[in-house]
Amino acid sequence: MIPELVFATNNNYKTKEISALLEGQYKVLNLSDIGCTVDIPETGSTFAENATLKSRYVVENYGIDCFADDSGLEIEALNNEPGIYSARYSGNKNDQENLELVLEKMKGLSNRKANFRTVVSLIKDGQVYLFEGLIYGTIRRTPSGEQGFGYDPIFEPLGYDLTFAEMSMAEKNAISHRALAMQKLIAFLKVQAAASQSGYQPLRYLKIS
Ligand code: IMP
Repeated sequence: MIPELVFATNNNYKTKEISALLEGQYKVLNLSDIGCTVDIPETGSTFAENATLKSRYVVENYGIDCFADDSGLEIEALNNEPGIYSARYSGNKNDQENLELVLEKMKGLSNRKANFRTVVSLIKDGQVYLFEGLIYGTIRRTPSGEQGFGYDPIFEPLGYDLTFAEMSMAEKNAISHRALAMQKLIAFLKVQAAASQSGYQPLRYLKIS
């Protein structure tokens, strides 16, 4: 029987994409598939805590193994803000206002170093596993580009002359924080599926970050 796994997201596109990458080894359901309409509270103080609040909520209330992700932008000169507050840094869930607040706070600052971070929390067979993806870069002084979302127009990944918003989706997906964390998750799940098909017990002791 194919094992079921919930991706704690409302984004159908993300669910289909990860489902394809798992090559039929898991049946991936999202929150609407399991009838979960609750806005799961993200009251933790780290990406890992917030992602795990979401994955744990699903496991405890629906009894199906689950993974969830949480991401954000960390800027060195702003003490790693906006961090877990990335989605609502300005007080509103408004990408343009958030981005403008970052530029305002960074006016006159020469240290432009930043990174995006994603943490994926997987709860499988009662064990929590964490997978992390990071990309380093710098914060531009003015926005540039139309693609993507969030802080993409002001984030220039290290080694590129383009912002994330000037890259195609495929280019961004080849290097992004989210893609890297998901690749680690997928590699882990594939090994687990192969092991269980061959009669091995699930790994219960391993923690990956
Ligand atoms: P989430 O946890 O993936 O929903 O990300 C939270 C917030 O972080 C988003 O609302 C964005 O403001 C910011 N963010 C996360 N990933 C990206 C990205 O790839 N580009 C731009 N902004 C991002």
